[in-house]
Amino acid sequence: MRFEPLADLPPQRDPEALAFAFSGDRMLVRGDAVPTAADLDGIEPLALGYLDGRLCLAYQLEEGHEAGEGLELLALRPLWGRIAEPLWTLAGRALQTLAWNRDHAFCGRCGTPTVQLAGERARGCPNCGLAAYPRLAPAVIVLIERDGAALLCHGVRFPGRMYSCLAGFVEPGESLEGAVVREVREEVGLRVEDVRYQGSQPWPFPHSLMIGFRARWKSGEIECDPTEIVDAKWFRRDDLPNIPPKISIARKLIDGWLAGEPG
Ligand SMILES: [Zn+2]
Repeated sequence: MRFEPLADLPPQRDPEALAFAFSGDRMLVRGDAVPTAADLDGIEPLALGYLDGRLCLAYQLEEGHEAGEGLELLALRPLWGRIAEPLWTLAGRALQTLAWNRDHAFCGRCGTPTVQLAGERARGCPNCGLAAYPRLAPAVIVLIERDGAALLCHGVRFPGRMYSCLAGFVEPGESLEGAVVREVREEVGLRVEDVRYQGSQPWPFPHSLMIGFRARWKSGEIECDPTEIVDAKWFRRDDLPNIPPKISIARKLIDGWLAGEPG
């Protein structure tokens, strides 16, 4: 499916437009489908773009919004696999766009209420001219290999007993590869080399871009930073712990390694 972004609302109201509506992080759905603009009469939307020519809009609903007849509000993450993947990805874009719009209602420099700038996805300050664009936080995630085993970790914020790849946010002034080397050293005390890009994934909780890598162990033994990592171990392919669900880039990195892809 082809998506073309759009910054300004078209002058004509299209009741058949797809309506990505959120109350907090819960999205309005009708069964397994995204509702239409006709379901959200009276609420001013933001433009998102066109999906295969069909207008897509984003709506901010109030906390405690009562879903109408046949509609329900469900958390976005578990909706993966229930609504079609291009729509789920677009829902993530809508959630981030709404959060950005809400969080930049006032100028971060002088406190004046901002206005939507015509023709671009930006809010501008009429007093000092500062413009705010939607923010992304790049984060690296890495699968480390050593003699046929992969390093997987149980982080302090992970649910259950799941083990996953190491991840962390990129700092200002860092390259992505430099962030991988630093995160691995800080969180598990290892040195890695041969850092290779594998792919990326937008992750809208709240506004990350996950960038996946593989790397090879170079030296050192595991020493966890207890503020981040509860446990980290080398796992062989035939002896894996609980791993993340298919939705995540972590799982794609693990599956690629399991399949013996060179990476
Ligand atoms: Zn200002």
